[in-house]
Amino acid sequence: MKAVKFGGTSMSTVNSIERVKRIIESDSERRFIVVSAPGKTESGGKVTDMLIKVAAALPERRAAEFANVVARFEELCAGLLGDKDFLCSEFDAIRKKLASADEDYIVSRGEYLSAKLLAAVIGYDFADAFDLIKFRDGIYDDEYTEHVCKLGLSGHKCAVIPGFYGGDANGKTVTFTRGGSDISGAIIARAVGASVYENFTDVDGFLTCDPRIVPHATIIDALSYKELRELAYMGANVLHPESIFPVRKANIPIHILNTFNSDAVGTKIVPTEQLLNGTYTRKNSRPITAIAGKKGFFSLYIDKSMMNTEIGFVRRVLSCFERLEIPIEHIPSGIDSMTVIFSAVDRGLANTLVKLVQAEVKPDHISLSTDLALIAIVGHGMVSRPGTAARAINRLSTADINIRMIDQGASEINIILGVSDEDFERALIALNGEFEV
Ligand code: ASP
Repeated sequence: MKAVKFGGTSMSTVNSIERVKRIIESDSERRFIVVSAPGKTESGGKVTDMLIKVAAALPERRAAEFANVVARFEELCAGLLGDKDFLCSEFDAIRKKLASADEDYIVSRGEYLSAKLLAAVIGYDFADAFDLIKFRDGIYDDEYTEHVCKLGLSGHKCAVIPGFYGGDANGKTVTFTRGGSDISGAIIARAVGASVYENFTDVDGFLTCDPRIVPHATIIDALSYKELRELAYMGANVLHPESIFPVRKANIPIHILNTFNSDAVGTKIVPTEQLLNGTYTRKNSRPITAIAGKKGFFSLYIDKSMMNTEIGFVRRVLSCFERLEIPIEHIPSGIDSMTVIFSAVDRGLANTLVKLVQAEVKPDHISLSTDLALIAIVGHGMVSRPGTAARAINRLSTADINIRMIDQGASEINIILGVSDEDFERALIALNGEFEV
């Protein structure tokens, strides 16, 4: 049996929802469906963005703002069910709560209404995510959810479930971060013991590089969970980065597919062992699976002679980050020096950090640079294959790009290179050229 998630673009118009219906009906295994709120159209924005505006309005203005959302769903109901008032009682119930409701409840209504609508269009049950996906003190509770969700769905042969939100024991609706329906889909896939988690979106699959920078990037047919995790972290954003965890636990493959192109074979994301033991083979056996990167990191360079003998040095540096609640990304280090790389923060906070570290460890030299881009070269193919790092470094040097940092994880599936923000695009193009074949 399959769990299937359809993203906002798939749920955005009468035409696209008719496609969704055909896709579901073409395979009787597609029994548990998770949906996003309707996405952008030529004339309208994302329903979730519209609802964020509703929540931000003064309580007495919210109903007027909500009218735009109602109009959007009425159009879909009219086109798909021939009854523009099909969700009328749902709109009334939401309107009654609008003035006193909190933001998460309001913002989650896009998914709620979207699932109600699709359930009617395809004749499936509706199962509310509020009862299936559980939060405690605003944080997703995986263990409890696994139990509740299994039980809650066991009575349904086929169901449509809203993505993006769940509920807590106090009756409060809680949402994931943006794009969170991907996580909901993975949770449902695990709960029903799906053979695959199909994630239908509006692209043909996962690409070897960002197509806005490398237009001839190609689709990757299979990726491991680990590779996806590294790439998603570096900003390759086909899937929400947290959506891997629930299915990874249960070894369920994710299949990324395009609602609008049934010819595309998509990208399968599979357990690492299955890729390594040949259960899944890739068409392309290049050492590098994909390259992704992000601009806008800060790096704090700290130098102190005999640093290696000073017990607790690194801990004291890191405690400054902890005190200021700045998350750390990487810590490449030398014998008498260390660099701490972190995502860009407010300039004032960065200055406070420098002063704090100075006072804490009294370095010989400390400097902050604010224009670092990180590029991750990712692939199982480079494990125990000498020369991958050398090829990357050579290629960048030929392109006259200065490398400011090199970090290779112990897993050997990831080399991270730091370059200046201004060299970022050129570096991606050069590296993609190097590893294209
Ligand atoms: N509708 C939400 C968003 O726009 C969640 C999702 O689509 O996954 O972020």
